[in-house]
Amino acid sequence: MRALANEPRNALDAYQQVATHSAIYPGQGTPLGLVYVALKMNGEAGELAEHVGKAMRDDGLVSTIFRSGNDTEVTFNGLSPKRRALLIKEIGDVLWYLSAACNELGISLSHAAETNIGKLYDRGQRNALSGSGDER
Ligand SMILES: [Mg+2]
Repeated sequence: MRALANEPRNALDAYQQVATHSAIYPGQGTPLGLVYVALKMNGEAGELAEHVGKAMRDDGLVSTIFRSGNDTEVTFNGLSPKRRALLIKEIGDVLWYLSAACNELGISLSHAAETNIGKLYDRGQRNALSGSGDER
């Protein structure tokens, strides 16, 4: 049986289909829309980073004890349930804008995921997973 053209192939595409129903923003469907979602996605990624920073500052995620000389003891503690829930919400916000960016490019979220997996697989085959640079 052939899948319908608009039928989601997996959870990522199902999410994208649902998220698209709430996608209302300036320039949607034009190059301005891509600029808008890229900016907003970075804002949401910043909110995610902000909560990690607050977990360090306010929740004791990382404890540092300075000892004599250059000795430093660093202890990593768990996230509070409240902070963890906030991080999950921000990850969802980032995902929403990733979905919107895919819409602006006319691709599915699964296409972006498969492209990334292909890139990582290729790097693994060439023993180039570590290091830096987009084109390694
Ligand atoms: Mg947010």
